[in-house]
Amino acid sequence: MKPQSPAFPAPLDADARRAAPAVICYPTETLPQPDLAALARRREGAVNGGHVIVPPRDARCIDVPAGSFFRITCPDGPQVGDLNLWSAQDLTEHFYSGKTRALHGTHLSTGDRLWSRFPAMRPMATITRDTLDWYGWDADGGSVHDVIGTRCDPYTGRLLGGVDYHYCCHSNLTRALADHSGLSLARAEPLVHDVLNVFMCTGFTADTHQYFMKASPVRAGDYLEFFAEIDLIVGLSACPGGDCGDEHTSDKATCSPLRIDVFESTESHQPVPQNAYDRSHGR
Ligand SMILES: [Zn+2]
Repeated sequence: MKPQSPAFPAPLDADARRAAPAVICYPTETLPQPDLAALARRREGAVNGGHVIVPPRDARCIDVPAGSFFRITCPDGPQVGDLNLWSAQDLTEHFYSGKTRALHGTHLSTGDRLWSRFPAMRPMATITRDTLDWYGWDADGGSVHDVIGTRCDPYTGRLLGGVDYHYCCHSNLTRALADHSGLSLARAEPLVHDVLNVFMCTGFTADTHQYFMKASPVRAGDYLEFFAEIDLIVGLSACPGGDCGDEHTSDKATCSPLRIDVFESTESHQPVPQNAYDRSHGR
């Protein structure tokens, strides 16, 4: 955090320096846009391709073929989900929340894409429906579906609280990926990555700019739906924080299940190729 009493005096031109115009780091005018109308037509012809229930304080993985849709639903009480995506062909090509944030902003909704890490850096999924898109921004500067948090984990819990809690999203996703892929826990853990916080309501405080959460506005029946741009393994943890209105690295919050439904399409689909940069890095 920035010090309340700086050690160094402001220069005479401090106000002028602070008045420099803000420039968007990554203007998106040249970013290829999804054809949402075509995806909506494709969705009409998609048929049920199975589902999985994610138990509270646990995680599950499900395969989603390229060209299909998957829907994350809150079927019961308010519940936040931590989402990981891996390429089914190469688990090291996984979701890159930081670059997604740099391109689309801190919170995602319909039309935004979830990008994979370097060197592939391509769309893994596109958000096609969001029943919480009405929420917008609240008076605290909060919104839903963020890519600013990481995922709750036992290491930070140990650091701050001195206790070991085993059902954080990081551990839940590690177990789920190990079970789904056949990898050991030790091999699966490094593949778990920063998440899209589905249904979570978050922001930064106005005074200290600290990451905050508040009770999610999600209600039974709300959902977030995606188009799978490539063959995916989708991992989802039902966070031990429940609606994340209080605390998360414990058994205190009321938790509910989540559900993932897959809708398969028979229409052909050509995945976006991996990023075309030649990887010579100046050599
Ligand atoms: Zn969590």
